Amino acid sequence: MYASLGMSPAVYRYGEDILADLRPRFEAVDAVAEYNQAKVLAAMQKNRVSAACFAATTGYGYDDMGRDTLEKVYADVFHTEAALVRPQITCGTHALALALSANLLPGDELLSPVGAPYDTLEEVIGIRPSPCSLREYGVGYRQVDLLPDGTFDYDGIRQAINGHTKLVTIQRSKGYATRPTFSVAQIGELIAFIKSVKPGLNVMVDNCYGEFVEMLEPSDVGADMTVGSLIKNPGGGLAPIGGYIVGRAECVSRCAFRLSAPGLGQEVGANLGLLPALYQGLFLAPTVVAGALKGAIFAANVYEKLGFKVVPDGREARHDIIQAVELGSPEAMSAFCHGIQAAAPVDSYVMPEPWAMPGYDAEVIMAAGAFVQGSSIELSADGPIRPPYAVYFQGGLTWYHAKLGILLSLQKLVEKGLARLP
Ligand SMILES: *Cc1c(COP(=O)(O)O)cnc(C)c1O
Repeated sequence: MYASLGMSPAVYRYGEDILADLRPRFEAVDAVAEYNQAKVLAAMQKNRVSAACFAATTGYGYDDMGRDTLEKVYADVFHTEAALVRPQITCGTHALALALSANLLPGDELLSPVGAPYDTLEEVIGIRPSPCSLREYGVGYRQVDLLPDGTFDYDGIRQAINGHTKLVTIQRSKGYATRPTFSVAQIGELIAFIKSVKPGLNVMVDNCYGEFVEMLEPSDVGADMTVGSLIKNPGGGLAPIGGYIVGRAECVSRCAFRLSAPGLGQEVGANLGLLPALYQGLFLAPTVVAGALKGAIFAANVYEKLGFKVVPDGREARHDIIQAVELGSPEAMSAFCHGIQAAAPVDSYVMPEPWAMPGYDAEVIMAAGAFVQGSSIELSADGPIRPPYAVYFQGGLTWYHAKLGILLSLQKLVEKGLARLP
């Protein structure tokens, strides 16, 4: 079957050799998934999820029992007071923009103690000027970069916190950078430090790509708001749209007022019939994330042994599902993405090309043949066309699909003479 899908025997054998050494790592991934499966199941049982929760509502969506129950389930999974989980939150950036704009007022300052935030947040914050940015509304921004070894600059952070600092944003995943992703434990240490400098500060964690990778979530270690996208990990590949914010009731309810309107808050917002996918996706998410993690570990080892720089490296512990591979040239980025695209169940016949994307400052190449448009819990690869020409690989609804995609990406590189098998 692999030969019929375009894989050469040499690439297949290389992949099997790499896999032979990864069995213990895969067992550890499965153990985390097993724990998280039980955690999700317990939350669903505790909140008495029933067939009535799957009914569609329209219009205002008053007394939407399925929606309200799903939010209780999320709050229990993340061990928080409250949750806002809505199809009206269109994507991760929207969820983050909501959390920030609802909890920052004119004159307040936002602090990122972990260096530059994800590209699309530059316009939300106003680092790159944009209509309706926080900056336009008089919210300041300060950033403390990581130290050269990728650790927190505690002295710099202490100095940056001042009378105006109101909210701290911590991005768990590396995003389009080649810094390390933080473990939940590291995030917990950082939050404890920040709150020791200025008690009462709110901390928001951008949890995109991190959900269910570990047994703990940022909300377990002191985050006041934990935020993410449902077309990444927690939607399990089934959610067709949506975002979530879990955390302290005071913060989350402000987000609801920002999403709908002051006075309305969490009580409006029809579910439009999307709840079955949101529930079932959450139920599957721990397993789906495990498959994606295995793919990321496999990709790291496949490319590292061919001499490419990979972040994280082949042995490091994982704290998100993203694998960066520094390919060194635009041509190699294209070949890699062509392989991922060729492995897709949808749109496998198209050729990805670099293009300008809203929210990004360089051209971006993206490979994805997804059932849900742009879903990056499904097998996908993308990256901005700028040095070090890194592609960010993630997802795979099943481990087998991730494996196939990675080996086909290698196949394309080998065919173009851009990688040589040992
Ligand atoms: C994907 C992502 C976002 C933005 O999410 P979108 O759904 O693409 O808007 C923000 N932060 C991080 C770390 C991400 O990975």
